[in-house]
Order: sequence, then structure tokens, then C-alpha cells
Amino acid sequence: MSQALSTDVLIVGGGIAGLWLNARLRRQGFATLLVENATLGGGQSVRSQGIIHGGAKYALHGALSGASEAIADMPRRWREALSGSGELDLSGVRLLSDAHYLWSPGSLAGNITSFFASKAVRGRVDQVKGEQLPPALQHPKFKGKVYRLAELVLDVPSLIARLAELAGDGLLAGERIEPLLEQGELVGLRVDGRAIRAQRIVLSAGRGNAELLAALGLDQPAQQLRPLHMVLVKGPTLKPLYAHCLGGGPKPRVTVTSHPAADGQWVWYLGGDLAEADGVARDPAAQIDAAQKELGALLPWIDLSSAHWATLRVERAEPAQSGLVRPDNAFLAERDRLLVGWPTKLALAPDFADRVLAALDRDGLQPASHAPLPELPRPAIARPAWEELF
Ligand SMILES: Cc1cc2nc3c(=O)[nH]c(=O)nc-3n(C[C@H](O)[C@H](O)[C@H](O)COP(=O)(O)OP(=O)(O)OC[C@H]3O[C@@H](n4cnc5c(N)ncnc54)[C@H](O)[C@@H]3O)c2cc1C
Repeated sequence: MSQALSTDVLIVGGGIAGLWLNARLRRQGFATLLVENATLGGGQSVRSQGIIHGGAKYALHGALSGASEAIADMPRRWREALSGSGELDLSGVRLLSDAHYLWSPGSLAGNITSFFASKAVRGRVDQVKGEQLPPALQHPKFKGKVYRLAELVLDVPSLIARLAELAGDGLLAGERIEPLLEQGELVGLRVDGRAIRAQRIVLSAGRGNAELLAALGLDQPAQQLRPLHMVLVKGPTLKPLYAHCLGGGPKPRVTVTSHPAADGQWVWYLGGDLAEADGVARDPAAQIDAAQKELGALLPWIDLSSAHWATLRVERAEPAQSGLVRPDNAFLAERDRLLVGWPTKLALAPDFADRVLAALDRDGLQPASHAPLPELPRPAIARPAWEELF
């Protein structure tokens, strides 16, 4: 029979939110155990574009929003972690680009003016020209303006692998999760029949939070799912590009990130407006057609005749908001020993961990002593979409 376990904080869900929190708690001396029912990072995290936003994109409306303010400190915190001197030691995680670019293909003067009027971007954006342009835009036919944002782009698979390393022996592959009750009070979870007691239980299971809450007899906090239909292009003529291409509206027309495939070629991962409402309604063939037209119009000098194309449907899981608007911060709700939330962005994983740590601190929770963990079945790390699809 499986022996009962105990820990200080039991985390359910090994995406960026759970893994980052787990590493922070361990660094502070807490005993932790993280349960994952599929693969580490395999929900939204490894399918994300890996941009560590500093809020500039959200300032496109011209008006300063909550998001622009709350997120502004994230690039610094991630940069410090990547250099090994921050709240976590993420040295060794691959940085794909130390800047993300804002690219205005035409005469969008009005849009750009309001963008620069925003306090959130002032001092953090520089126009680039000539050889400073991203390699894919360095062409005599290129017209438009390009601005360098102080935002990073990370190789998420290497980030997940590093955080799994920092988790040490505290990872558990487990599928069936039930409440562990004592006199009607939640004191832990039963994972595949094994009782695990914990001082606190954190649900950071992305879209899986709703089902976990239901298993605990709860329906709050409510979650929303925002569907996306992303496009992937792989080919020998692609050069790295990390940019939001502006359209006329508040959202980027297309957001391009570039990811190294194991065979040495680059894969462009296309999001932004292309992947939202109309893109979600299209079938994969029509979505690829739309992406080909978009790239043909924006980057006509790039020969994509030998490129391979694929699409990926994925949903962003967030706390429910009115009108499916984007939440501005990481979100955390609490109920006795149970904490549940969504970082809402990969970039906001540190903010999610801050919120959990602040709740533990407020309650005066201290690391307790626990028997050492036995050897546990360990979840695998997710493969990137560009390796699965091509
Ligand atoms: C296409 C796309 C692009 C994005 N681009 C960016 C970007 O560039 N920058 C940015 O900041 N954000 C981006 N995001 C948002 C970002 O990816 C998410 O906000 C973030 O990854 C969410 O992390 P998470 O850990 O909460 O969830 P997830 O990564 O979804 O992880 C949840 C984990 O919980 C596990 N799980 C689920 N149910 C259970 C259960 N019952 N028991 C155990 N485990 C369970 C899942 O298997 C999964 O591993 C993007 C999102 C998408 C979809």
C-alpha cells in the first residue's frame, strides 16, 4: 500500500505557475510536492510564445491601463533570474531574444502617437534602423518603422526543464485527485489513492482548475477560456523575428516569435489578431491560407515556397472577467487551506508566486518537519509543439 505523505505546500499543476511557485517555496525552506497529471509545461506554457512582456503591448490603446503598470517590472525580475542573481537561479535557460520589436508596416501615425504618449512605454522604446533591424526585416524592400521594446523572449522548453531540476525530488505524476478530509475539513489531497497532507494546497492547473474545484465541491473562482488558433511555419529561408506587427486596432495584427527546431531550422510561431476570433472560426486549411496571405503582404521578399505549415488550437485559461477581457495581473483566490489561481501570462509567474507567498506570510505559516519523500513516479517534460507537429 502507498504510504501517506506530508508536506508544507502541495501544488497541483506543473505549468509555469506551479513550477515557479514550487521553486520559490523550496528556496525559502518550505517542503513542497507538485502533482502533474500529464506533462510538465504541456498545457499552455510550452505552447506560449515566451514573451516576457513589460506591458508595452497593452499601452497600444493610448490610455494607460492596469496591465501596463502591473507587468512593467517583470522583464527586470526575469532578467535577474536568468543571470542567476534573482529570486530563482535560471542561469542556463535559453534566451531567444533580449528584445521584442514593435513593427509598424504602414502609415499608422495616429496609433503610434498615442502609443508613445503613454507613460508606460516612455524611456523603454527605441526606434531601430538598418543593421539594427531584426534579420528578417533587413531587406531593401522593407518599409515601415520598427521599435525595440525592452522585453525578452525565452525558450520555454529550457525554462520548464530548469524549473523541473529545481523541483528536486518533489515532483509526482498523478492522475486521480480527491479531497483528503478530516472532520469535514480539507487537510490535503488523495492522489491515485495516496494520502498527502499539507498545510496549504495550491491549484495552479490552468484549465484543469475548474475540474479540480468541482472535485472539491466548489464552483468558485470561475474560469474563462480564450481560444486561439496559432500558425506554425518552418523552413530553411526563415530568419529569427520577434515582433508585434501593428494593424490599425489596439491588438497586434500578428505577433511573430521564432523557435529553434532540433534539426537546426527556425519555426515561426504566429499569434496576435490572426489567431483570435476570425482565426478561431477558420478551419486549419483556411487559417494557413490566411497566414500565407498575411506574411506575403508583410514580408514579400521572404520565399516561403518550401516552408511547412501547421496550426495549433489552444485555449488560454484565466479567471472569468466580464466580456472576456484580459485580466491585468496574476490572480489568486483563497478558501481556508486552499489557494487557487492563474498567472494569466507566463511573464506573470513571479507575480503569482508573490501572491501565494504573501498569503503564507500573512498567516504566519512556517516550514514544518516532514519525513523525507520516497522515490515517486516523476512526470515527463512536454515536447514543444514545433517538434510534435513537423
Ligand atoms: C498560444 C499562447 C501564447 C501565449 N504567449 C504568451 C507570451 O508570449 N507571454 C506570456 O507571458 N504569456 C503567454 N501566454 C499565456 C501563458 O502561456 C499562460 O498564462 C501560462 O502558461 C499559464 O501557466 P499555468 O501554469 O497557469 O498553466 P499551464 O501551462 O496550462 O499548466 C497547467 C498544468 O496543470 C496540469 N493539470 C491540469 N489538470 C490537472 C490535474 N487535474 N491534476 C494535475 N495536473 C493538472 C496540466 O497538465 C498543465 O501541465 C500564451 C498562451 C497561449 C495559449
